[in-house]
Amino acid sequence: MANSNIGMVGLAVMGSNLARNMASHGFKVSCWNYTPDLTDKFFNGAAKGNDNLVPFYDLKEFVDSLEKPRRIFMLIMAGSPVDSMIEQLLPLLDEGDIIVDGGNSHYPDTIRRYEYCKEHGINFVGCGVSGGEEGALHGPSLMPGGSKKAWEALKPILQTICAHTDNGEPCCDYVGDSGAGHFVKMVHNGIEYGDMELICETYNLLKNGLGLSNDEMRDIFKEWNEGELNSFLIEITSNILGYKDENGEYVVDTILDKAGQKGTGKWTGIEALDEGVPLTLIVDAVFGRCLSSMKDERVKAAKEYNKKVVKYEGDKAELIENIRRALYVSKIISYAQGYQLFHKATETFGWELNNGGIALMWRGGCIIRSKFLGKIKEAFDKNPNLENLLLDDYFKNIMIEYVPALREVVKAAVDTGIAASSFFSALSYFDGFTSEKLPANMIQAQRDYFGAHTYEVIGKEGHFHTNWTGEGGDISSTAYNR
Ligand code: NDP
Repeated sequence: MANSNIGMVGLAVMGSNLARNMASHGFKVSCWNYTPDLTDKFFNGAAKGNDNLVPFYDLKEFVDSLEKPRRIFMLIMAGSPVDSMIEQLLPLLDEGDIIVDGGNSHYPDTIRRYEYCKEHGINFVGCGVSGGEEGALHGPSLMPGGSKKAWEALKPILQTICAHTDNGEPCCDYVGDSGAGHFVKMVHNGIEYGDMELICETYNLLKNGLGLSNDEMRDIFKEWNEGELNSFLIEITSNILGYKDENGEYVVDTILDKAGQKGTGKWTGIEALDEGVPLTLIVDAVFGRCLSSMKDERVKAAKEYNKKVVKYEGDKAELIENIRRALYVSKIISYAQGYQLFHKATETFGWELNNGGIALMWRGGCIIRSKFLGKIKEAFDKNPNLENLLLDDYFKNIMIEYVPALREVVKAAVDTGIAASSFFSALSYFDGFTSEKLPANMIQAQRDYFGAHTYEVIGKEGHFHTNWTGEGGDISSTAYNR
């Protein structure tokens, strides 16, 4: 029997579907799972009769069935199971073999595992996988980072089984060294939080500010999906709004308004705080979910304050168009912030991140796939060292044209009493980013006043301290900037 092209470790939802995807493209895949039950289930079900999928119950036999250099793709629960699998695989592998972790691992773990495997002569790849079950089966967005040598060996398989853009470009490319793949996947998930929160605030404004019906909103999102907002999340929002159960009731109206989260948005926010990058919109989106989860307190507060939303009195059609524009520019701001985090990561970790390639990888297969990512790709193709997306000509012109609409939407939210903190956050960032002068001189003065932290002076080199009260003396604290 010919050796398999690749091995799949983990046959739960993601692993089984990705293995089927590989097999459907002619790759022979050896399959192994931690407990035999899932292997049995897979081979008595979806994998039954598929000659390109081969079950293994013994890990050594699984490893020995692979052509060299061996390529092993793991799709298992993130955390200690990944370390445990690496430990079990290492004694069975030869120098130059490849382990890919396709799970949702936190990137510092991937950096550690990359170094550890390198010490053992194994090429490790941390690969972000997005698109859920459907994506895994029909073409996910793949974000591989780590060993470049391993990438060359994986490329023919991964660029075949991934999603492709309408032009046939693969939504998978080498992202960067070490933990870069999982770093990019983490930011992808953070951006997903931002996109979803903006859509939810839009839904709130349309529903409660304008009093639109679910069918009206379904049609609006459907129409928006035909234009520059075209994206998977806008499309499914339209579908969700129109979906009724067997009793004719809209399912979305029956769902409790408490948002869950698995922590990748939080990781992105923590990273931004550590790096000193103003990732305001994503962080706001994470807090939006936290606020939503305080249901009992909110019910109590709504009663205490007799909270009522005031219906919008202005021109409906005009506000709807303003919301569309506000959504687009806020999304641009969120991605600009996400790319700033990439920019910082290149400095901190010394990774050369493939900025345009990342936008292309997100064009298909993943949850944040959208038409506008093509514009980000174009911006980085024009200028690979672009500091901030808002400084690209296309985005600059859109901002100039659409930011007034964002201001109107923020005003409408204020007037109606609808919480729309992501829109507020986008506008504040834009106003701050485009301000030559910010009031931080006052912060510096306060810091120096109470803590002798010193300040810089316009037009002068060095750090200065003022004895503001006449009692503090001339001793200053150590200066720091973050
Ligand atoms: P789960 O995250 O539910 O993980 C289950 C798999 O992990 C099973 O194969 C399980 O084996 C295996 N496993 C658990 N503990 C161990 C262990 N100690 N050693 C070896 N294997 C172990 O499965 P999913 O398919 O949902 O996800 C797989 C990975 O992909 C996860 O990291 C997930 O975060 C990520 N991911 C998931 C997406 C999704 O939509 N579900 C989307 C993108 C990424 P057993 O059955 O024997 O316990």
